[in-house]
Amino acid sequence: MTTIGVIGAGTMGSGIAIALANAGYRVVMVDTDAAALVRAAQYIAENYAALQRKGRLDRAQIDARLECIRTDTAFSAVAQCALVIEAVFESLALKADVFAQLGATCARDTILATNTSTLDVDAIAAAATRPERCAGMHFFSPAQIMKLVEVVRGRQTSDATIESICALARAIGKTPVVVANADGFVGNRMLLGYRREAEFLVLSGAAPREIDAALEQFGFALGPFAVSDLAGLDIGVRAKHERAARGEAPPFELTRIPDKLVEAGRFGRKSGQGYYPYTGDRAGADDVFTSIVAGERTRLGVRPRAVSAEEIVERCVLALINEGARILDARIAASADDVDTIWRLGYGFPAARGGPMRYAESIGFTEVAARIELFAATDPAFWQLAPYIRQRANRV
Ligand code: NAD
Repeated sequence: MTTIGVIGAGTMGSGIAIALANAGYRVVMVDTDAAALVRAAQYIAENYAALQRKGRLDRAQIDARLECIRTDTAFSAVAQCALVIEAVFESLALKADVFAQLGATCARDTILATNTSTLDVDAIAAAATRPERCAGMHFFSPAQIMKLVEVVRGRQTSDATIESICALARAIGKTPVVVANADGFVGNRMLLGYRREAEFLVLSGAAPREIDAALEQFGFALGPFAVSDLAGLDIGVRAKHERAARGEAPPFELTRIPDKLVEAGRFGRKSGQGYYPYTGDRAGADDVFTSIVAGERTRLGVRPRAVSAEEIVERCVLALINEGARILDARIAASADDVDTIWRLGYGFPAARGGPMRYAESIGFTEVAARIELFAATDPAFWQLAPYIRQRANRV
């Protein structure tokens, strides 16, 4: 595999192209929007210019890498590629259309990988009429830096396809973790539980700043609200709307705080304000946020109280552990180590603590089960103890 196709030249397509070129692969990047290809070329050039300024690459090395990346507006440009990675907008209809075109354009044995973060990989693969050669290849942003790739095995994905994708991931310096095709795969599914609890802590009386500080003190590079502001609140809210449009209920009750912030035009860093302000008076009172939280407290019948840093860490990390355990119960991940790798490399779980599941082991599963059951007494719908934890707790 020396030439890899990348479909979609947005944030992820550009980062994936850089990661491939850095490892010496030739890349053909296709976007139907010529202006997107121009923006991608600028982004890639700026990425390399920054590395040159830091003294990490010289001009000749940069030129060699830039030469590896070719762009085109026609799908026929990827006809000869052994593997094509799709990174177009997050829409099932669009991705199915792209896979249908790739199926008609590429050789019968070309591997087609989708970088979707929320959609059903089998539904995308079905459009290409070669489901055994299709899989998910879920990169993390910025793709040229983040080391994790979730390799999503579809119902019909062949072992050879999984092996080829994992080999490519390793060749470009990433750690592949094979996961099942489940909603949110592993990382984002756990994120939903972690974020749910963080938002409920806001309702309970903690400020986002206190929650972020407590989790950063625990060892996370960034707290959950700082991460949301960085990623864009609109992304999660859109995923929630799309899930509702598909007739799927959320796995547990969620607050409408992010939805209301987005309605108020607060998308995070990109709009200058999300959970935090990034312009103007950065320490000033935030009446909009206060009234959104007050409205949600009334709607959900939550009375504010004092919340300690210890409780913040306990609730958020136990939410991660319980969701990780549920994922192991459902065999969406093959091992506790895989769950840990995903959360360390993709979500900044403190490396020194090993990962959520190893951390659970260090506390002891009997203790983990006892604390979760305590939370379950007042919030049973969310805190349903995973059988994986119960079994380990009983063993002691
Ligand atoms: P983006 O909006 O930055 O880029 C999408 C690109 O796809 C655009 O340049 C658009 O012109 C192009 N496109 C649209 N229709 C096309 C078509 N028919 N053929 C070719 N190109 C087409 O999006 P992004 O943030 O790079 O996300 C791309 C995918 O990666 C999505 O599925 C997203 O869920 C997933 N993803 C995103 C992130 C992230 O943090 N941004 C992380 C992991 C996965």
